[in-house]
Amino acid sequence: TNWVYSFGCGETQSLDIDRDRLGGKGASLAEMARMGLPVPPGLTIISDVCQHFYVHAKGFPDGLKQEIEAGLRAIEAATGRQFGGAETPLLLSVRSGSRVSMPGMMDTVLNLGLNDETVKALAADTGDERFAWDSYRRFIQMYADVVLGLDQEFFEEILEDRMSELGYAYETQLSADELKDIVSEYEKLLDEELGESFPQDPCEQLWGAISAVFSSWTSARATAYRALHDIPFDWGTAVNIQAMVFGNLGNDSATGVAFTRNPSTGEKALYGEFLLNAQGEDVVAGIRTPQSITEAGRIASGAEKPSLEKLMPRAFSELVTVAARLERHYGDLQDMEFTIERGTLWMLQTRNGKRAAGAAMKIAMDMADEGLISRDEAIIRVDPATLDQMLHPTISPDFKANPVGSGLPASPGAVTGEIVFSAEEAISAHAEGRKVILVRTETSPEDIHGMTAAEGVLTTRGGMTSHAAVVARGMGVPCVTGAGNMRVDRFDNILHGVGGVLMHAGDLVTIDGSTGRVLKGAVPTQKPALSDDFQRLMGWADAARRMKVRTNADTPGDARTAREFGAEGIGLCRTEHMFFEGDRIKTMRRMILAEDEAGRRAALDQLLPMQRADFEEIFAIMHGLPVTIRLLDPPLHEFLPKNEEEREEVARALDMETSLLKQRVEALYEFNPMLGHRGCRLAISFPEIAEMQARAIFEAAVAAARLTGEAVVPEIMVPLVSLRSELEYVKGRIDGIAGTVMRESGMTLTYRVGTMIELPRAALRAHEIAEEAAFFSLGTNDLTQTTFGLSRDDAPGFLGAYQKKGILERDPFMSLDFDGVGELMKLATERGRMAKPDLQIGICGEHGGDPISIRFCETLALDYVSCSPFRVPTARLAAAQASI
Ligand code: PEP
Ligand code: MG
Repeated sequence: TNWVYSFGCGETQSLDIDRDRLGGKGASLAEMARMGLPVPPGLTIISDVCQHFYVHAKGFPDGLKQEIEAGLRAIEAATGRQFGGAETPLLLSVRSGSRVSMPGMMDTVLNLGLNDETVKALAADTGDERFAWDSYRRFIQMYADVVLGLDQEFFEEILEDRMSELGYAYETQLSADELKDIVSEYEKLLDEELGESFPQDPCEQLWGAISAVFSSWTSARATAYRALHDIPFDWGTAVNIQAMVFGNLGNDSATGVAFTRNPSTGEKALYGEFLLNAQGEDVVAGIRTPQSITEAGRIASGAEKPSLEKLMPRAFSELVTVAARLERHYGDLQDMEFTIERGTLWMLQTRNGKRAAGAAMKIAMDMADEGLISRDEAIIRVDPATLDQMLHPTISPDFKANPVGSGLPASPGAVTGEIVFSAEEAISAHAEGRKVILVRTETSPEDIHGMTAAEGVLTTRGGMTSHAAVVARGMGVPCVTGAGNMRVDRFDNILHGVGGVLMHAGDLVTIDGSTGRVLKGAVPTQKPALSDDFQRLMGWADAARRMKVRTNADTPGDARTAREFGAEGIGLCRTEHMFFEGDRIKTMRRMILAEDEAGRRAALDQLLPMQRADFEEIFAIMHGLPVTIRLLDPPLHEFLPKNEEEREEVARALDMETSLLKQRVEALYEFNPMLGHRGCRLAISFPEIAEMQARAIFEAAVAAARLTGEAVVPEIMVPLVSLRSELEYVKGRIDGIAGTVMRESGMTLTYRVGTMIELPRAALRAHEIAEEAAFFSLGTNDLTQTTFGLSRDDAPGFLGAYQKKGILERDPFMSLDFDGVGELMKLATERGRMAKPDLQIGICGEHGGDPISIRFCETLALDYVSCSPFRVPTARLAAAQASI
């Protein structure tokens, strides 16, 4: 085995660059050297040695010493310098470099090879005595800290004492002689603290540094970082030993960081910062403000200090050439570190750069256009989860403030408005043209009007699939739910934030539905712009994906939005929301409160034309695309008044005795409504409700077909089925109505009746249920709730603790639980298709808009995913990625 690989030494061996063993930094140095780019010569000790180090009680493998010595000879030959040499000494940097970047987590030693003799040689060689002693001072300090374990603070104290004695403000004011004094004080300190003198032998220094870098793989910092990012211990780190180049050798020297394109905007132009006369550490420390590399960048930032382009045109133009070559070579945005030593450019690292969401899209599209990457690659490069951010305003990235509360990012977008505490106030404020945020403990379906009138919604309870969240996402209204560290006091109309902050009705508050933050007052936001790139990327994604993308739309408005975003049908139209529109709630209540079937039918007759009109409009908007309409699902008492005051109001409106109304409400009371009288159970006890809805659907289909001349094929969906016989019964009633409407209209209708699979029993008995169903729609909200036995409305209160304690990695209501809920989905699709090979299967739970869950749906070969309108672009892209 080779433990060591040289680079930049005119090596003739052309090794395969094994990134996993050389580490990110080592691989990039080897590759740049091989491309003939200016890289200071060096060697990489592969990560296998790190494994050996830990397996063998911090020992090194046989042969390593000889290989390192040979490598050092090569560096000496390439640089014309000698390690420990008394004339032209070679100084080294020793750095870690793991397979994935772990910024700042492991140790580094610079200026290695300096001692009481070589420091003089360095002074003579560079003609800069001050520089040489400053380098020695820095080296002792770093080495003592990293290798000998003596805290930096001791040294800082000496340095600061000396500077205040001399009345200096900056280290740069120290003269060579003063630095010499400081160095001898440092050496004395080492003697006193450690009882040993600073190692003068460069080889001893080198082995000390190598051990220290390997040891830092298990430092507390690095261990925590590895745990956080799932980086296995076994990977280990490589060690890079490289000839030092100096960015601090005067005003024709510099060090900096450059990106091949702008990582925040994606603009195709070199972008970056540098410090004149400085070492890399100074850039990281952030003590001095860096200058812009390009003249355009300088002008854009309004800075006065000259650009690198102006100051060092030759080195700059070389950097431009190198950057372009690296980008072409790697086919991605590069983030590069460089140093200029007395006018000569040296590259120290290159890696794929991190970038903002909008920039990622622009860069991917530009690179595909430039022929640098394929279309498939461009599709892969954009994170689907970032698309729905792009459709909404976001808080300006430069704005920093402490949130007064935080909850779940339920519906993206950042908005500011006056606080209102009720739906009615939201509506009246909206009518006056004021912008408001509706703040509630939780929302109920009755708040829907207030939610439409509000700029945003904030609740202190409820999860990602709570009513507020689902409705807000559907409408594209920014929403934060479950802000458990805030409290609504309805008695005094005060919103309590963290740290004792009080906000009253009318005060301005900003919510950020993309992150879950709540901020006091108004906050600067950025507007989205739907670029050409966005539309083109969507087109490419559509051509690449197999699954269709539908939308969950309850209203004509939702349907229209979703069409604009490219939905290919409606996968779920929840009819219950329609009954809260305008005055309908009154008729709905009359229906629910009726004492007998005749009373119910009378109210249903009034609801029929309204439902029919809704469906006609939706069919017209969807223009022949499939539309799945679900029969009424929620427990009936959700439509009823909650307290005394509301009860009296309703009694008045319905012209009913308050006592009678109270009786009926009590009769409808349920201990556990989510597992109670809802879904198909309603259609079984009150078939006239389902029949009214079926009639409305069929009559609307007839009307739409007459209007457009195109047939409409409605899909009617029965919710909360667990028994085949339930579906059989409800389907029988629907078929009966279909026959009647066909006779009445003289038109033949094609329609399909299917069911949701949202209960474990339905998944298990899918083969039986499939015999009655034309389609399945996986209702993963309820399926998650019932598989875990975990209330979707109450879970956020304690799931946070689960995630913090590592008991549960992700919220299963946001991102599918593949192992449990996923297993049931798999069973349901397999068993359903076994009974009926052409069974259409989709998903309409909130997971239908979650990229990781969409990938899972592709493995089940679902026909479509359905999600809220604003997530349709995300789903289109995620489905494409899942197909590639
Ligand atoms: C579901 O349960 O997944 C579903 C889509 O229905 P709802 O969210 O309306 O219960
Ligand atoms: Mg459901």
